[in-house]
Amino acid sequence: MRFIHTEVGRERSFIDTITDPKVLTAHIVGSEPQVRRRKYDIMNVSMLDKICAREYVIGYLLNQERTEQIGFPMQTIFNMGSALHSWIQNHPEVYFGRNKFLGNWRCLGCNRQRRFGTKPITNCEFCDASYRATVYDEYLFRTPAVSGKIDGILNVGGKYRIPDIKTTAKDIEYPNGSDIIQLASYMYFSHPRFCGDELPVEIDRSVGYLIYFNKVFNFRAPVKTFKIEPTAKLMEPIIAKTVAFTKGKAQGILPNPLKKCVVKSFVIKTCPMADKCAEFHFEERTTLPVPE
Ligand code: SF4
Ligand SMILES: [Zn+2]
Repeated sequence: MRFIHTEVGRERSFIDTITDPKVLTAHIVGSEPQVRRRKYDIMNVSMLDKICAREYVIGYLLNQERTEQIGFPMQTIFNMGSALHSWIQNHPEVYFGRNKFLGNWRCLGCNRQRRFGTKPITNCEFCDASYRATVYDEYLFRTPAVSGKIDGILNVGGKYRIPDIKTTAKDIEYPNGSDIIQLASYMYFSHPRFCGDELPVEIDRSVGYLIYFNKVFNFRAPVKTFKIEPTAKLMEPIIAKTVAFTKGKAQGILPNPLKKCVVKSFVIKTCPMADKCAEFHFEERTTLPVPE
């Protein structure tokens, strides 16, 4: 290992003077904030309880975009959650049981979707790549108003139910309200009248599971599962939002502004459509032209 003994790299740069681990992380591991741009053409189910239908209708009709900057810490939290999700979904023999976890499976050799069902244990029928190159592919459903990806489908005593895998750093005592709404929305929109016949099994929409995997070592309860039975009342505001968005897209009808925004005189930093929202409110406009 001759190069170890050379003088190359011995000259101390600015980075070599840093000793604080946090500052060193920022220089060695950290990256630029990621910019996410999102059109207002569809509502994501994972955000349905927070979304304002008026913002989406205005954004869609005016062909606007929502831009979000995601800094390094948040990006890291998201990535850790995604990595854990992916590991769980690709190892049904460790969690749930090989014959109990169903979904779509994609071959990385030919990038084709192999089939819906349990994890394949044979080589790809299209390109003969090893079954080890087959990965879980989250099922995407899309209606004119909403889209979402479900974490998988569980066969529970012959009934097909939707789980929603969550990663947490807290010891969860009861499920989070927005997680319940998210799972209930997946269950609601998994009906064939929204998904067509794309989902090859009939979902039992009366029960779903919120499964919290704890990222902090917790021997007593590393995973906690909550049974969720959504009620019509829980779904009412979510359905109202999607109906308002569908009508807005098709007929240009503006939903009413949220009371809290009127009270705050439309000074809402988190809403990119706030100025337009205020303008239309004070002009008493109830519709906008629908784009061709
Ligand atoms: S200002 Fe409030 S009511 Fe108006 S679009 Fe934004 S979030 Fe919705
Ligand atoms: Zn293949």
